[in-house]
Amino acid sequence: MMIRQPRYVPVLCFHRVLPAEFDAPLATCHRVRGLVVEQEVFREQMRRLDHLLQPVGLKEYLAWLRGEAALPPNACLVTFDDGFRDLQEVALPILAEMGFPVTAFVSVLQSEQPQRAGPIDLWFATIEAWWHRSSKRSGHRRRLKELVHGEWSRAYLRALPEDGKDHLERLGRELGVPADTIPSVGDVYLDTAALRSLAGYGVDLASHGWDHVLLTTLGSRELAAQLESGLAWIRMLNPRADPVLAYPNGSNDRRVQQAVEAAGFCAAFSVLPKKTLPDGPFAIPRYCIPNRITAIDEVAEGMEVRI
Ligand SMILES: [Zn+2]
Repeated sequence: MMIRQPRYVPVLCFHRVLPAEFDAPLATCHRVRGLVVEQEVFREQMRRLDHLLQPVGLKEYLAWLRGEAALPPNACLVTFDDGFRDLQEVALPILAEMGFPVTAFVSVLQSEQPQRAGPIDLWFATIEAWWHRSSKRSGHRRRLKELVHGEWSRAYLRALPEDGKDHLERLGRELGVPADTIPSVGDVYLDTAALRSLAGYGVDLASHGWDHVLLTTLGSRELAAQLESGLAWIRMLNPRADPVLAYPNGSNDRRVQQAVEAAGFCAAFSVLPKKTLPDGPFAIPRYCIPNRITAIDEVAEGMEVRI
């Protein structure tokens, strides 16, 4: 067990909260990936959070980060990535009941053109189409895990944006899922109007890039465009929004951090498997919370938590 650092404030990262067995689009791959917390587990996690930690709003957190204000003991920040519809429909009613503030990192393409799936969604939608057609024998489940977690998925992400298409076509050929038969993932994300209404309910909206491509894979011009358009869009949704970013998949390096600062952001969050002190405001670690009630106790005790 680690000793709690006096200047450490844990940042919790969630993606999706779904009723058990609920078969939403992409939910199969996201469950395998560890991105789904089941609704009843989440409810219990929030009860534990209420006992053990004290969620604060983004503005308070940033004031603390700048050294301008103190935070209550046991403060934490609760964040959600990607703007899935279940944030509004499943998680927010529970968070509102507890009175917890929440920060939502959303990308432009996913919310502004929800009918146009982003690159990682196309990848998972192809795998999911194959899975739903397969006979679900144990060999298939092993293959599903391999496809979601394996080297091919990582290679696809690294190859984006230019060469990703080749990987995707090859995946479709191999799994017998031609591109024109991939089902739409249109109702997975909150659209722009829904996000605006969330801002009205006190959810702090922040940027998750333009189309969720890994920022480390981009040349400097594309990188600046992703960051600037993402920030402008968040400000269009809420002119009082703080200029804060979560790196898609947590992927960042020094060059990306410098571009983020140059684009006018004041802080950026990564996802790291272990608890570390922030390495400056542009690489703040977050705990990705797994589908396990005790994960919150572990965070409160300063233990390593990962999905
Ligand atoms: Zn994301």
